[in-house]
Amino acid sequence: MPGTATDSLDRRDDSEPSEPSGSNDTSLGRAPKGKPAAPAKPSSAVARLAKLGLRRPVDLVLHLPMRYEDETALETIGEAIRRAGMGLAAQVEGEVISNEVTFRPRRQLVVKIADDTGELTLRFLNFYGSQTKQMAEGVRLRVRGEVRGGFFGAEMVHPQVRPVVPGEALPDRLTPVYPATAGISQAYLRKAIGGAMSRTPMPETLPQAVLQGPLAQLKLAPLADCLRLLHNPPPQESEAALADRSHPAWQRIKFDELLAQQISLRRSQAARREKNAPSMPRRADGLLTRFLAALPFRLTGAQQRVVEEIAADMTRPHPMHRLLQGDVGSGKTIVAALAACQAIDAGYQAALMAPTEILAEQHFRKLSAWLEPLGVPVVWLAGSLKAKEKREAAARVESGEAQLVIGTHALIQDTVRFARLGLSVVDEQHRFGVAQRLALRGKAGEAETKAAPDKVPHQLMMSATPIPRTLAMTYYADLDVSVIDELPPGRTPIVTRLVNDARRDEVIERVHHAAAEGRQAYWVCPLIEESEALQLQTAVETYETLVAALPDLRVGLVHGRLPPAEKAAVMGDFSANRLQVLVATTVIEVGVDVPNASLMVIEHAERFGLAQLHQLRGRVGRGSAESVCLLMYQAPLSPTARERLATMRETTDGFEIARRDLQIRGPGEFLGARQSGEAMLRFADLNTDAWLVDYAQEAAELMLARFPEAVEAHLLRWLGGREHFLKA
Ligand code: ADP
Ligand code: MG
Repeated sequence: MPGTATDSLDRRDDSEPSEPSGSNDTSLGRAPKGKPAAPAKPSSAVARLAKLGLRRPVDLVLHLPMRYEDETALETIGEAIRRAGMGLAAQVEGEVISNEVTFRPRRQLVVKIADDTGELTLRFLNFYGSQTKQMAEGVRLRVRGEVRGGFFGAEMVHPQVRPVVPGEALPDRLTPVYPATAGISQAYLRKAIGGAMSRTPMPETLPQAVLQGPLAQLKLAPLADCLRLLHNPPPQESEAALADRSHPAWQRIKFDELLAQQISLRRSQAARREKNAPSMPRRADGLLTRFLAALPFRLTGAQQRVVEEIAADMTRPHPMHRLLQGDVGSGKTIVAALAACQAIDAGYQAALMAPTEILAEQHFRKLSAWLEPLGVPVVWLAGSLKAKEKREAAARVESGEAQLVIGTHALIQDTVRFARLGLSVVDEQHRFGVAQRLALRGKAGEAETKAAPDKVPHQLMMSATPIPRTLAMTYYADLDVSVIDELPPGRTPIVTRLVNDARRDEVIERVHHAAAEGRQAYWVCPLIEESEALQLQTAVETYETLVAALPDLRVGLVHGRLPPAEKAAVMGDFSANRLQVLVATTVIEVGVDVPNASLMVIEHAERFGLAQLHQLRGRVGRGSAESVCLLMYQAPLSPTARERLATMRETTDGFEIARRDLQIRGPGEFLGARQSGEAMLRFADLNTDAWLVDYAQEAAELMLARFPEAVEAHLLRWLGGREHFLKA
């Protein structure tokens, strides 16, 4: 084994002792969707409600509490003070004994209340004059907040306060707390929701035949009862079951939500099946055959299988809608190229879209090298082209002269029209936003108008991020999936090590060593989410350090701000081994393919997500040389960062990594679907409620087959006008 015996990095691994991986501090899956990013100034409460997606009364009825507050009991001030500092909410009552506005350290209202057991200070840093009066001396206040041990004794900062008469009754129910947004108070929401509840009957949308049939085992309670209970839980209900959403009432809600999703997915699937697409039979004497004959390697068994699946789809007169899934390095590009050949053979154009310009450019170079010798004109279309070049490229696309078009999302711009698009391929599809995927689909749909107005192109999506079963059944239920579950032969597994940042010199030495053996290395600079400028600066500094430390090597630098031509030149030099070391920001994250590179150094690996680390690591291990990935980190690590890095060290299996990623992050973030916001499940949690999906599927099928009116009513209730988002 080359180089292992002498290199201490191979023997010493700085990984911190693993902790039990149960630490769950980032299980954000359940975070309420109540914090939309920076709302534009809404003009009224109605507009603000709309920001929360609350447009119709039924939306309000389905706006369910994210948690509850227990205001049903009082503590004495003495008891509350004993629990000070524990971060618990307390509710106490007392009489105001003093009330003053002080100015040091800043203007604030300080109110003291007392009961027989003690005194408590209430501190308000922002307050209205009316509040001073409301809390005048002698008034009895009911206050709720967290007691802290302040410098001058126990205090509550900004508690909720209400004047009461002695002996005033306590609520006998838990108080709901709703997902809210700036400018909407809980009180307002409670009132609006209460009003909507009384005005909106919620008749059962599930037919008895479904409730008593496939769902009998679930024993679902009537929806209207469940909604009432969740908005206004009777005192005897288990607060814990309400809080963790395991209560049967929550189950009903989650089920209905999943059902709406399943119905909607099935309908869009059926609608797609109704559409026509050009049938593209394979020709024995065609391009495809010549291309395969010219390939320098044989397809793996898995590649052959997925090529057959795709070819069969494209032969049918209905649009293919297929996801090609294969781990990093499994050889998806060639499969896409073969599909393109089949489309071109049938007289159609094919488009290949990639999420970054570097990747698109690499595809362009690779595919034109493969196909132009066979007489296929390939066109490059990216945002960075000069206006004139772009016009020329677009003209070649529009005239139909370009048979294969490769580019970034510039491809979906309005100015680009295809003469006869027959196949669109989206690489690394999970990296595109939902809106972009929709636009591409729209483009694909409209593109056909010239040649055959009633036909839409076939679609192939590719991704290295495997989709766990539950997600495949839900968000991706509308896709057929092909999997490449085999790597091309002759690859050696990548060895991954965690290295403390303090050992940078050794890492640099390791880079030197790799280059001395004729290999190449990537050095990925830290991700700095807050500031692109800072990230760039770090990259430049790292580059300079490495240039100085490795005077006998040629070091290159690539980052997002580099003009595209320079970017391409640097990548070209690295591909051709004119550069031994490539310092890069995450622009190289997806798809870049330089088989001679065998060392990947990732700085501040703790800042990256699992999927990103897996993608980055996948840049090496593409040739036959033994590859190493060094994950440099800065101690101390947070529990989740430690968990991520441990996962990286333990496995190179993309499926396993995705599974753990899902566990750590929850499905919403996992899908990168934040943009789809409203399309996400709000209540059902695929980590805990996946078992309901099977029932939802069964019920959806039965309802679609036998109860079309119930289907309409259910979709209208749950999705309103948002159905199209689910199809992205
Ligand atoms: P990914 O699935 O990550 O997109 P690529 O398509 O970039 O992977 O392929 C990775 C590398 O493997 C490329 O260099 C490609 O040419 C090579 N490759 C693909 N298929 C085979 C095969 N059957 N035999 C040998 N090498 C292959
Ligand atoms: Mg790829």
